[in-house]
Amino acid sequence: RAKELGKNNFQFFTADMNELIANKMSLELGLRKALTNNEFELYYQPQVEVESGAIKGMEALIRWRNPKLGIVPPNEFIPLAEETGLIIPIGKWVMQTACEQAKKWESMLNKPLRISVNISALQFQQPDFTDVVKKVLERTNLSATSLELELTESIVQNPQHALPIMKELKEMGVLLSLDDFGTGYSSLSYLRSFPLDTLKIDKLFIDNMHHVKDEAIVNTIISMANSLELNVIAEGVETTEQLASLAGKACDEYQGYLFSKPVPCEEFESLLQTITSPEPAM
Ligand code: C2E
Ligand code: MG
Ligand code: MG
Ligand code: MG
Repeated sequence: RAKELGKNNFQFFTADMNELIANKMSLELGLRKALTNNEFELYYQPQVEVESGAIKGMEALIRWRNPKLGIVPPNEFIPLAEETGLIIPIGKWVMQTACEQAKKWESMLNKPLRISVNISALQFQQPDFTDVVKKVLERTNLSATSLELELTESIVQNPQHALPIMKELKEMGVLLSLDDFGTGYSSLSYLRSFPLDTLKIDKLFIDNMHHVKDEAIVNTIISMANSLELNVIAEGVETTEQLASLAGKACDEYQGYLFSKPVPCEEFESLLQTITSPEPAM
Protein backbone atom coordinates (compact mmCIF):
# COMPACT_ATOMS: atom_id res chain seq x y z
CA ARG A 1 0.00 0.00 0.00
CA ALA A 2 2.72 2.36 1.05
CA LYS A 3 4.78 1.27 -1.91
CA GLU A 4 1.88 1.93 -4.25
CA LEU A 5 1.32 5.35 -2.79
CA GLY A 6 5.01 6.08 -3.08
CA LYS A 7 5.00 4.95 -6.67
CA ASN A 8 1.99 7.09 -7.47
CA ASN A 9 3.62 10.05 -5.86
CA PHE A 10 6.71 9.39 -7.89
CA GLN A 11 4.75 9.22 -11.12
CA PHE A 12 2.87 12.37 -10.28
CA PHE A 13 6.16 14.04 -9.54
CA THR A 14 7.78 12.91 -12.81
CA ALA A 15 4.80 13.99 -14.90
CA ASP A 16 5.06 17.39 -13.29
CA MET A 17 8.79 17.48 -13.83
CA ASN A 18 8.43 16.44 -17.45
CA GLU A 19 6.10 19.29 -18.09
CA LEU A 20 8.41 21.67 -16.29
CA ILE A 21 11.39 20.51 -18.31
CA ALA A 22 9.44 20.63 -21.57
CA ASN A 23 8.29 24.15 -20.82
CA LYS A 24 11.79 25.21 -19.96
CA MET A 25 13.20 23.66 -23.11
CA SER A 26 10.68 25.33 -25.39
CA LEU A 27 11.32 28.60 -23.57
CA GLU A 28 15.05 28.16 -24.08
CA LEU A 29 14.65 27.25 -27.75
CA GLY A 30 12.51 30.33 -28.27
CA LEU A 31 14.92 32.52 -26.35
CA ARG A 32 17.84 31.41 -28.53
CA LYS A 33 16.08 32.70 -31.63
CA ALA A 34 14.43 35.73 -30.11
CA LEU A 35 17.22 38.22 -30.84
CA THR A 36 17.60 37.35 -34.54
CA ASN A 37 13.81 37.25 -34.92
CA ASN A 38 13.50 40.74 -33.45
CA GLU A 39 11.13 39.61 -30.73
CA PHE A 40 12.46 41.87 -28.00
CA GLU A 41 11.16 45.34 -27.35
CA LEU A 42 11.94 47.94 -24.74
CA TYR A 43 9.26 49.63 -22.70
CA TYR A 44 10.04 52.78 -20.76
CA GLN A 45 8.80 53.93 -17.38
CA PRO A 46 9.29 57.52 -16.21
CA GLN A 47 11.22 58.42 -13.08
CA VAL A 48 9.57 61.54 -11.75
CA GLU A 49 10.73 64.27 -9.37
CA VAL A 50 8.46 64.20 -6.31
CA GLU A 51 8.62 67.97 -5.77
CA SER A 52 7.96 69.18 -9.33
CA GLY A 53 6.40 66.24 -11.16
CA ALA A 54 9.06 66.60 -13.87
CA ILE A 55 10.34 63.51 -15.69
CA LYS A 56 14.01 63.21 -14.76
CA GLY A 57 14.65 59.95 -16.54
CA MET A 58 13.26 56.61 -17.55
CA GLU A 59 13.94 52.96 -16.89
CA ALA A 60 14.20 50.63 -19.88
CA LEU A 61 12.32 47.37 -19.27
CA ILE A 62 12.56 44.49 -21.71
CA ARG A 63 9.53 42.75 -23.20
CA TRP A 64 9.58 39.50 -25.18
CA ARG A 65 6.82 39.00 -27.72
CA ASN A 66 6.90 35.46 -29.11
CA PRO A 67 4.39 34.25 -31.75
CA LYS A 68 3.87 30.95 -29.90
CA LEU A 69 4.35 31.95 -26.28
CA GLY A 70 2.75 35.39 -26.40
CA ILE A 71 4.23 38.10 -24.18
CA VAL A 72 6.67 36.54 -21.74
CA PRO A 73 7.35 38.77 -18.72
CA PRO A 74 11.03 39.41 -17.84
CA ASN A 75 10.74 37.63 -14.50
CA GLU A 76 9.99 34.47 -16.49
CA PHE A 77 12.86 34.59 -18.98
CA ILE A 78 15.64 36.71 -17.45
CA PRO A 79 16.62 33.92 -15.00
CA LEU A 80 16.80 31.45 -17.91
CA ALA A 81 18.74 33.97 -19.99
CA GLU A 82 21.22 34.19 -17.14
CA GLU A 83 21.44 30.42 -16.76
CA THR A 84 22.13 29.93 -20.48
CA GLY A 85 24.41 32.92 -20.92
CA LEU A 86 21.98 34.42 -23.43
CA ILE A 87 21.72 37.45 -21.17
CA ILE A 88 25.09 38.57 -22.56
CA PRO A 89 23.91 39.28 -26.15
CA ILE A 90 20.44 40.28 -24.89
CA GLY A 91 21.97 42.69 -22.38
CA LYS A 92 24.12 44.28 -25.09
CA TRP A 93 21.05 44.73 -27.27
CA VAL A 94 19.17 46.35 -24.37
CA MET A 95 21.99 48.78 -23.62
CA GLN A 96 22.54 49.74 -27.26
CA THR A 97 18.81 50.18 -27.96
CA ALA A 98 18.14 52.13 -24.75
CA CYS A 99 21.07 54.52 -25.27
CA GLU A 100 20.14 55.09 -28.92
CA GLN A 101 16.60 55.94 -27.89
CA ALA A 102 17.70 58.20 -25.04
CA LYS A 103 19.95 60.13 -27.42
CA LYS A 104 17.00 60.69 -29.78
CA TRP A 105 14.81 61.97 -26.94
CA GLU A 106 17.57 64.26 -25.66
CA SER A 107 17.89 65.77 -29.13
CA MET A 108 14.12 66.08 -29.42
CA LEU A 109 13.77 67.93 -26.10
CA ASN A 110 17.14 69.61 -26.33
CA LYS A 111 17.94 68.76 -22.74
CA PRO A 112 19.67 65.93 -20.91
CA LEU A 113 17.65 62.92 -19.77
CA ARG A 114 18.69 59.86 -17.82
CA ILE A 115 18.24 56.34 -19.12
CA SER A 116 18.39 53.53 -16.56
CA VAL A 117 19.36 50.07 -17.75
CA ASN A 118 19.09 46.90 -15.64
CA ILE A 119 22.30 44.91 -15.48
CA SER A 120 22.37 41.24 -14.56
CA ALA A 121 25.12 39.75 -12.42
CA LEU A 122 26.54 37.64 -15.25
CA GLN A 123 26.76 40.68 -17.53
CA PHE A 124 28.57 42.68 -14.87
CA GLN A 125 31.04 39.81 -14.34
CA GLN A 126 32.18 39.74 -17.97
CA PRO A 127 35.80 40.90 -18.23
CA ASP A 128 34.85 43.21 -21.12
CA PHE A 129 31.81 44.75 -19.40
CA THR A 130 33.25 48.26 -19.12
CA ASP A 131 34.44 48.06 -22.75
CA VAL A 132 30.93 47.15 -23.85
CA VAL A 133 29.55 50.20 -22.02
CA LYS A 134 32.24 52.43 -23.54
CA LYS A 135 31.52 51.18 -27.06
CA VAL A 136 27.77 51.70 -26.71
CA LEU A 137 28.34 55.28 -25.54
CA GLU A 138 30.71 55.92 -28.45
CA ARG A 139 28.38 54.42 -31.02
CA THR A 140 25.28 56.22 -29.76
CA ASN A 141 27.04 59.47 -28.89
CA LEU A 142 25.15 59.55 -25.59
CA SER A 143 26.87 61.34 -22.74
CA ALA A 144 28.07 58.93 -20.04
CA THR A 145 26.28 61.05 -17.45
CA SER A 146 22.97 60.25 -19.15
CA LEU A 147 23.39 56.52 -18.61
CA GLU A 148 22.55 54.93 -15.28
CA LEU A 149 23.23 51.26 -14.65
CA GLU A 150 20.85 49.57 -12.21
CA LEU A 151 22.77 47.02 -10.19
CA THR A 152 21.27 44.60 -7.70
CA GLU A 153 22.51 43.79 -4.25
CA SER A 154 23.63 40.36 -5.51
CA ILE A 155 26.07 42.11 -7.86
CA VAL A 156 27.67 44.23 -5.17
CA GLN A 157 27.73 41.32 -2.70
CA ASN A 158 31.31 40.62 -3.71
CA PRO A 159 32.91 44.05 -3.18
CA GLN A 160 36.40 42.82 -4.05
CA HIS A 161 35.22 42.13 -7.57
CA ALA A 162 32.54 44.79 -7.91
CA LEU A 163 34.34 47.81 -6.50
CA PRO A 164 37.09 48.21 -9.14
CA ILE A 165 34.52 47.84 -11.94
CA MET A 166 32.20 50.34 -10.32
CA LYS A 167 35.09 52.76 -9.94
CA GLU A 168 36.03 52.37 -13.59
CA LEU A 169 32.45 53.07 -14.64
CA LYS A 170 32.35 56.11 -12.36
CA GLU A 171 35.55 57.43 -13.92
CA MET A 172 33.86 57.18 -17.29
CA GLY A 173 31.05 59.32 -15.87
CA VAL A 174 28.38 56.61 -15.87
CA LEU A 175 25.80 56.75 -13.06
CA LEU A 176 25.28 53.78 -10.78
CA SER A 177 22.10 52.85 -9.00
CA LEU A 178 21.29 50.13 -6.47
CA ASP A 179 17.99 48.49 -7.43
CA ASP A 180 15.44 46.79 -5.13
CA PHE A 181 17.20 48.18 -2.09
CA GLY A 182 16.24 46.56 1.19
CA THR A 183 15.46 43.10 -0.17
CA GLY A 184 19.04 41.84 -0.36
CA TYR A 185 21.94 41.60 1.97
CA SER A 186 24.08 44.64 1.38
CA SER A 187 25.47 45.93 4.62
CA LEU A 188 25.52 49.59 5.42
CA SER A 189 29.32 49.66 5.43
CA TYR A 190 29.38 48.38 1.83
CA LEU A 191 26.93 51.04 0.87
CA ARG A 192 29.27 53.69 2.17
CA SER A 193 32.26 52.43 0.18
CA PHE A 194 30.44 52.02 -3.14
CA PRO A 195 30.54 54.88 -5.64
CA LEU A 196 26.75 54.95 -6.02
CA ASP A 197 24.56 57.78 -7.29
CA THR A 198 21.10 56.41 -6.66
CA LEU A 199 19.26 54.14 -4.26
CA LYS A 200 15.97 52.59 -5.32
CA ILE A 201 13.69 51.64 -2.44
CA ASP A 202 12.02 48.33 -3.25
CA LYS A 203 8.30 48.33 -4.01
CA LEU A 204 7.72 45.97 -1.09
CA PHE A 205 8.33 48.76 1.44
CA ILE A 206 6.28 51.28 -0.53
CA ASP A 207 3.36 48.80 -0.69
CA ASN A 208 3.39 48.47 3.08
CA MET A 209 4.11 52.09 3.97
CA HIS A 210 0.75 52.39 5.71
CA HIS A 211 2.18 50.08 8.38
CA VAL A 212 4.17 51.94 10.99
CA LYS A 213 7.16 49.59 10.83
CA ASP A 214 7.48 49.71 7.05
CA GLU A 215 7.16 53.46 7.10
CA ALA A 216 9.98 53.54 9.62
CA ILE A 217 12.14 51.50 7.22
CA VAL A 218 11.36 53.89 4.37
CA ASN A 219 12.21 56.86 6.60
CA THR A 220 15.50 55.24 7.55
CA ILE A 221 16.48 54.42 3.96
CA ILE A 222 15.69 57.97 2.84
CA SER A 223 17.58 59.63 5.66
CA MET A 224 20.54 57.32 5.10
CA ALA A 225 20.49 58.03 1.35
CA ASN A 226 20.41 61.74 2.09
CA SER A 227 23.40 61.53 4.44
CA LEU A 228 25.33 59.61 1.81
CA GLU A 229 24.24 62.22 -0.74
CA LEU A 230 22.50 59.65 -2.91
CA ASN A 231 19.53 60.30 -5.13
CA VAL A 232 16.67 58.23 -3.75
CA ILE A 233 13.86 56.78 -5.88
CA ALA A 234 10.75 55.04 -4.54
CA GLU A 235 9.71 52.09 -6.70
CA GLY A 236 6.18 50.92 -7.37
CA VAL A 237 4.21 53.97 -6.25
CA GLU A 238 0.57 53.23 -7.03
CA THR A 239 -1.52 55.59 -4.90
CA THR A 240 -1.79 59.31 -4.20
CA GLU A 241 -1.51 58.47 -0.48
CA GLN A 242 1.89 56.89 -1.05
CA LEU A 243 3.06 59.87 -3.08
CA ALA A 244 1.82 62.35 -0.47
CA SER A 245 3.63 60.41 2.22
CA LEU A 246 6.87 60.40 0.18
CA ALA A 247 6.57 64.15 -0.46
CA GLY A 248 6.90 64.72 3.28
CA LYS A 249 10.04 62.60 3.46
CA ALA A 250 12.70 64.20 1.25
CA CYS A 251 12.39 61.37 -1.27
CA ASP A 252 13.79 62.74 -4.55
CA GLU A 253 11.98 60.75 -7.20
CA TYR A 254 9.36 58.10 -7.68
CA GLN A 255 8.46 55.53 -10.27
CA GLY A 256 5.18 53.66 -10.46
CA TYR A 257 1.82 53.03 -12.02
CA LEU A 258 0.42 56.16 -10.36
CA PHE A 259 2.33 58.26 -12.88
CA SER A 260 2.65 55.70 -15.67
CA LYS A 261 3.14 52.02 -16.34
CA PRO A 262 6.11 51.09 -18.52
CA VAL A 263 4.99 51.99 -22.06
CA PRO A 264 6.24 51.38 -25.61
CA CYS A 265 8.61 53.86 -27.20
CA GLU A 266 5.99 55.90 -29.15
CA GLU A 267 3.80 56.25 -26.10
CA PHE A 268 6.70 57.35 -23.95
CA GLU A 269 7.59 59.93 -26.55
CA SER A 270 4.13 61.51 -26.41
CA LEU A 271 4.34 61.44 -22.62
CA LEU A 272 7.63 63.36 -22.82
CA GLN A 273 6.13 65.87 -25.23
CA THR A 274 2.96 66.48 -23.21
CA ILE A 275 4.77 66.84 -19.92
CA THR A 276 7.55 69.07 -21.16
CA SER A 277 5.81 71.27 -23.71
CA PRO A 278 4.17 74.51 -22.51
CA GLU A 279 0.38 74.64 -22.11
CA PRO A 280 -1.29 75.31 -25.46
CA ALA A 281 -2.60 78.86 -25.80
CA MET A 282 -6.39 79.14 -25.45
P1 C2E B 1 13.03 46.09 -11.67
O1 C2E B 1 14.29 46.52 -12.31
O2 C2E B 1 12.93 46.26 -10.21
O3 C2E B 1 11.89 46.90 -12.42
C1 C2E B 1 10.72 47.39 -11.83
C2 C2E B 1 9.55 46.45 -12.07
O4 C2E B 1 8.42 46.92 -11.34
C3 C2E B 1 9.10 46.41 -13.53
O5 C2E B 1 8.59 45.10 -13.80
C4 C2E B 1 7.96 47.42 -13.55
O6 C2E B 1 7.05 47.22 -14.60
C5 C2E B 1 7.34 47.15 -12.21
N1 C2E B 1 6.59 48.30 -11.69
C6 C2E B 1 6.90 49.60 -11.77
N2 C2E B 1 5.99 50.36 -11.14
C7 C2E B 1 5.06 49.51 -10.64
C8 C2E B 1 3.84 49.69 -9.89
O7 C2E B 1 3.44 50.80 -9.54
N3 C2E B 1 3.15 48.56 -9.57
C9 C2E B 1 3.56 47.31 -9.94
N4 C2E B 1 2.81 46.28 -9.59
N5 C2E B 1 4.71 47.12 -10.64
C10 C2E B 1 5.43 48.20 -10.99
P2 C2E B 1 8.98 44.30 -15.13
O8 C2E B 1 9.06 45.22 -16.29
O9 C2E B 1 8.07 43.13 -15.22
O10 C2E B 1 10.45 43.80 -14.81
C11 C2E B 1 10.71 42.91 -13.78
C12 C2E B 1 12.18 42.75 -13.52
O11 C2E B 1 12.82 42.13 -14.64
C13 C2E B 1 12.91 44.07 -13.32
O12 C2E B 1 12.72 44.54 -12.00
C14 C2E B 1 14.34 43.64 -13.61
O13 C2E B 1 14.90 43.01 -12.49
C15 C2E B 1 14.13 42.61 -14.70
N6 C2E B 1 14.40 43.24 -16.01
C16 C2E B 1 13.56 43.95 -16.79
N7 C2E B 1 14.18 44.37 -17.92
C17 C2E B 1 15.45 43.91 -17.84
C18 C2E B 1 16.60 44.01 -18.68
O14 C2E B 1 16.62 44.65 -19.74
N8 C2E B 1 17.75 43.39 -18.25
C19 C2E B 1 17.81 42.69 -17.06
N9 C2E B 1 18.97 42.11 -16.71
N10 C2E B 1 16.75 42.60 -16.24
C20 C2E B 1 15.58 43.20 -16.62
MG1 MG C 1 15.40 48.17 -12.26
MG1 MG D 1 13.55 47.45 -8.84
MG1 MG E 1 12.32 44.19 -8.85
